[in-house]
Amino acid sequence: MSATIIDGKAIATATQAEIKTRVTQLVEQGVRPGLAVILVGDNPASQVYVRNKVKGCENVGMHSVLDRYPADLSEVKLLARIEELNADPNIHGILVQLPLPKHINEHAVLEAIAPEKDVDGFHLMNAGALMTGQPRLRACTPYGVMKMLEYHKISPWGANAVVIGASNIVGKPMAMMLLQAGATVTICNSKTRDLASHTRNADIIVAAVGRENILTADMVRAGATVIDVGMNRNAEGKLCGDVDFESVKKVAGAITPVPGGVGPMTITMLLMNTLESAQNTLKSVY
Ligand code: NAP
Repeated sequence: MSATIIDGKAIATATQAEIKTRVTQLVEQGVRPGLAVILVGDNPASQVYVRNKVKGCENVGMHSVLDRYPADLSEVKLLARIEELNADPNIHGILVQLPLPKHINEHAVLEAIAPEKDVDGFHLMNAGALMTGQPRLRACTPYGVMKMLEYHKISPWGANAVVIGASNIVGKPMAMMLLQAGATVTICNSKTRDLASHTRNADIIVAAVGRENILTADMVRAGATVIDVGMNRNAEGKLCGDVDFESVKKVAGAITPVPGGVGPMTITMLLMNTLESAQNTLKSVY
């Protein structure tokens, strides 16, 4: 038996169509959602990501601003620009593309973004809101994973979920969202002694490590749902995830491919957060 392939591209297309309709309705109420993207330096991968984010905005009828700065931009200047955007009523979402050059304190920059415009969901206030069960703006990648599960009617309620990876941007918020959705959650990290002993008991596995083949078929229970967040290059230079897709798809009940899985959902949920942030200006949430 081969697993159902969770087609992130198709879910992203459907969700973006829904976002576009909601943007049109909001524009009729006098608010066009706006996203500001800040790129510091010339990291080639970051350039592709920011271009796709701006293009995503155009596709759903949102306003966008792209600020590009040289790698030697001072932290003071970056913080001043964030202050300006915090005060700009046409901007509802601010995203600073990571990683930042070494001389800039990433933490200080992320905390400078107004929490109500923090569409990446990385600000302490948004991380804390998720942690305490009152989510506001959610981290885009795990938010996208939750949408994919919902789309396929895979309920985390009562399920054993294992999240491999514990970063602030993927693993931890993923675990919190699954917990809030009723799963019993195990979070694994690089110190985990016997990863397979955890994954073999899981109904839902999310791999977010950044290492090819961290999850192989012998580590997966028959029928489990496997979500692959990883983005790596294999020996041939081809994009691949953390999961040994070809072997695991023969055991799993449902699985996401790479590419075409979680990736397209991340940008979609960024647009969703920008929309929600713009909608929140009509009511007072923060
Ligand atoms: P990260 O900050 O490097 O975190 C990696 C996590 O994996 C850490 O918690 C680390 O544990 C854990 N880990 C490392 N080796 C492990 C092992 N052998 N067993 C279990 N856990 C292990 O990475 P990230 O930013 O979360 O990203 C993870 C992957 O997702 C990357 O490939 C990234 O490119 C990809 N990603 C994709 C999207 C998308 O849209 N598709 C979005 C974001 C990230 P410690 O905490 O012990 O160090």
